[in-house]
Formats: sequence, structure tokens, C-alpha cells
Amino acid sequence: MTGIEPILDNNRKWVEEKRAKDPDFFNRLADGQKPRYLFIGCSDSRVPASAITGTGPGEMFVHRNIANLVIHTDYNLLSVLQYAVEVLGVEDIMVVGHYGCGGVAAAASNKQYGLIDGWLTNIRDVIRMHEMEFLRIKDDDARLRRLVELNVIEQVRNLAKTSIIQNARKGAKPPRLHGLVYDIKEGLLKDLQVEDNLIAELEHIYGTHAMQHAAKVLEKEVEQPGLTASKPELTDEAAKETKKAGKETMRQAS
Ligand SMILES: [Zn+2]
Repeated sequence: MTGIEPILDNNRKWVEEKRAKDPDFFNRLADGQKPRYLFIGCSDSRVPASAITGTGPGEMFVHRNIANLVIHTDYNLLSVLQYAVEVLGVEDIMVVGHYGCGGVAAAASNKQYGLIDGWLTNIRDVIRMHEMEFLRIKDDDARLRRLVELNVIEQVRNLAKTSIIQNARKGAKPPRLHGLVYDIKEGLLKDLQVEDNLIAELEHIYGTHAMQHAAKVLEKEVEQPGLTASKPELTDEAAKETKKAGKETMRQAS
């Protein structure tokens, strides 16, 4: 068999098997879908969404792209997200990265690849945000593995920044957001345990009450000038260092 013949052949066999086990299987699915999960994963052929999660037809809404990115100008992803949240009412949304991701490795390589460079810039932004942590890892493989994890965490944050999620979080049953990494060598999924406060801390800027927050900050500024003066941007690591240094200074002074 050549071309797509094997695919059509497999499909016929699959239909026969399903019908043999459950004659009503396709009729039920034809009635509509009510999936509980939204899966946002990499296009990599080694990360099949249904197979690694043990979900069957009708159980999981799926969006895949190179390196599982959540980009705020990507109308494909945003349409999937809006439909999944507002129409299907999914309960859990997972961003699923994987070790050995070619997109992540390409972004970390300092080479140019043509059209995809714009897409990879989003992963280079993740490197910039966590540069100190990234540079401190000497082993190449370990550094890339960590970048895969950091990329997933930042994409979960990007999800939380959307008006779709911000609005859903004001409702009674907002979807839970998760960051997972799939280990191709072992076949196992690891939950990165992205904490809810990492998502909640975005609300004062990305939520609809951002203006109220701004008014409060400005009020404080009038009461205590200089207290809220803008500080230069710090990476997570640099911010920790600064905090530590501040504590040291206070300890020495007291
Ligand atoms: Zn990948």
C-alpha cells in the first residue's frame, strides 16, 4: 500500500472494531460534544494528545502548534480557547510541553530558520525573562529541559492574561489552568504544579479592574510620594537577589 491507503485501511478497521464493541458509538458522538478538557500541545508527532492522556473521542478539545505557544495575536488559538471556555465549558485547560522539543531547541540556538523565527521569538522572550536561571545551568541538555518547563509556565501565564480567561475567572466555575511536560523517553506526563497565585497576580494588570488598581496606586503616591515610583524591570532571579540583598542590609542596620 502506498500514499494514504494505509490511513483509509486503518480507518475502516477502527470503525469495525468500535462498532463491534459498541454499536451505538458513532450515533452518540454525532449528537454533539461536551469535552471536559482543553489540550494545548506541541505539533510533534511523538506527542499524540489522546494516546498519552487516555482520552477517547468527545473527551478532549485539542489545539496544537510548534512548541505549544499561547500568543495573544494568534486568532486560531484564541478562537479555540473562546469556544472551549464559553461554549463547551471545559473544566481543565492544560498546556503540554515536551522534553526534546525541536522548537524550543531552535529558539535557544541563536541560528536563523526563516519564516518560523518570528514564532520562535516568543520562546526567546521566555529565555530573556529567566536569563540568569537559564545561564547558570551548565549542562546543555538540562538547560534545554528547564527551558521546556519555563516555556510551559509562561504559556500558562499567557493563557491567564487573555480576556477570555479573565472574564471566566469572574464566573462561578472558571476553568483550572495546568502546565504539564511530557517525557518522550519515559512516556510520562509531569505536572509542573503551576500555582493559582501565579495566575491571580496577573489580575490587577490584565483584569477588567485594572483601572481601579491604578487609581489606588496613584492615591498612595499622593499620600506618600516616591513610595510607588517605577523601578527598572527585574527578572525573577534578579528580583530575588535584590530582595535578599535588601534583607541583608536591614539585618546589618538593625
Ligand atoms: Zn515540540
